[in-house]
Amino acid sequence: MEKLTSLAKRRGFIFQSSEIYGGIGGFWDYGPLGVELKRNLKEAWWRDMVSGHDDLATLPGAPSPYAMTGLDCSIVMHPQVWKVSGHYDLFHDLLVDCRTEGCKARFRADHIPTSQCPLKPSRHPGEHDKCDLTEPREFSLMFKTNVGALFDPSSEAYLRPETAQGIFVNFKNVLDTTRVKIPFGIAQIGKSFRNEITPRNYTFRSREFEQMEIEFFCHPANSQQWYTYWRDRRFAWYTSLGLRSENLRLRNHDANELSHYSCGTADIEYAFPFLLAGEFGELEGVAHRGDFDLRSHMEGKLVRAGDDFTLELDQQGQPRYVGSGKELSYFDDQRQERIVPHVIEPSAGADRATLAFLCEAYTEDAIEDSQGKPQPRVVLKLHPRLAPFKVAVFPLVKREGMPKIAQDIYRELKRHWNVFYDETGSVGRRYRRQDESGTPFCITVDSQTLENQTVTLRDRDTTIQERVASKDLVALIQEKLTA
Ligand code: ATP
Repeated sequence: MEKLTSLAKRRGFIFQSSEIYGGIGGFWDYGPLGVELKRNLKEAWWRDMVSGHDDLATLPGAPSPYAMTGLDCSIVMHPQVWKVSGHYDLFHDLLVDCRTEGCKARFRADHIPTSQCPLKPSRHPGEHDKCDLTEPREFSLMFKTNVGALFDPSSEAYLRPETAQGIFVNFKNVLDTTRVKIPFGIAQIGKSFRNEITPRNYTFRSREFEQMEIEFFCHPANSQQWYTYWRDRRFAWYTSLGLRSENLRLRNHDANELSHYSCGTADIEYAFPFLLAGEFGELEGVAHRGDFDLRSHMEGKLVRAGDDFTLELDQQGQPRYVGSGKELSYFDDQRQERIVPHVIEPSAGADRATLAFLCEAYTEDAIEDSQGKPQPRVVLKLHPRLAPFKVAVFPLVKREGMPKIAQDIYRELKRHWNVFYDETGSVGRRYRRQDESGTPFCITVDSQTLENQTVTLRDRDTTIQERVASKDLVALIQEKLTA
């Protein structure tokens, strides 16, 4: 993990937020390469789940054709949204402090069995004689803010802790404006905020992060099939972009682990290198949420009552938080019935996924130098769709017109992809830099180019160089990238 974080800093993938002031816990910035990597990841997700989806196709294993559409909702929403959704009352973690002088550490109660006490020798919190832990106290994860000029309770609002609620409250808008029919999905990518007690493990647990969420609305009769479909499809997406399946696992939640609204949840987990051997960390949760969310936004805050839900009442017997009162049901004209659709929610984190792809890509190997001696190298074997730059172009030397030819090639390729141009330092060092940046192909203009308009095309993973005609580069690289 140390090697990876130092490479991420050195090459400009990830920086600590406000670093020149000593940083601020739980916030991170993406540098010039990191922003490209994360954008590529989000674009791959949007392309594969939304814009590239064929709304007319009937998919094998899925009950019927389905449409996918998108939204981009505001971060600050009406405070009632969070009261009705349950976040205001329930989105808490339990916090434990150590009172011991020289320690004063803070832990999440459920993380104590896997946390380290800062005192030496290293033990779990509570295991040293000196440890003096408080009872667990509730701590709200939602960031509070005020809207407008008045700073009083009536102006309080929250930064969203998830993007999903924006989708539920727009359900009717989407239905009315697109005329989609169930089953259909609404996707959203955007920032979420959680005041995590112990942000840690690099970008894995931060206080500001990006989510990629889908709310998929379907008929209750086939919601179980859709749940299985999405769970397996989302797992396959990670492997299609290069996460090796032995580092990835699908874990179905036990009944006692399910959230109060869920009839089934599975986590897609990755064996991050900061975890102990055999441990996995959550990349994405896929949940069957039943009709909980749409019903809550119609009726008010619900609580579980046996197999169903009922309105939560206060001490006066009134609804604890009232819903919008708007009709969020759906008339199924095929079945001629009015239903509240069930929801399947694949909820992924763009930062955790970016981190997992970086961890997976980080490789140390050895390649032969010009004297045939093995030299260690670090290479990021990122999937070409994710790689920040697809190609780098170099003139071998800054003479004999080579820079001009290389720049022309750079400009031609730049019309198609993100391309990097570099003419400084030895060509070996330039290759090494691109290996560390994850660039799949390097093109070098050399003296032979001047004679027959061919260049070398080097493959990042094999380091094999082939000689190809400059005029074929676009077609050839296109073919290699899609392969
Ligand atoms: P955890 O148990 O790790 O706190 P969670 O179960 O609360 O996660 P969800 O509410 O299911 O997470 O959020 C969906 C996804 O959003 C997670 O799978 C993860 O990828 C991402 N995510 C959640 N919290 C954070 C965070 N603090 N930092 C980065 N990503 C996060």
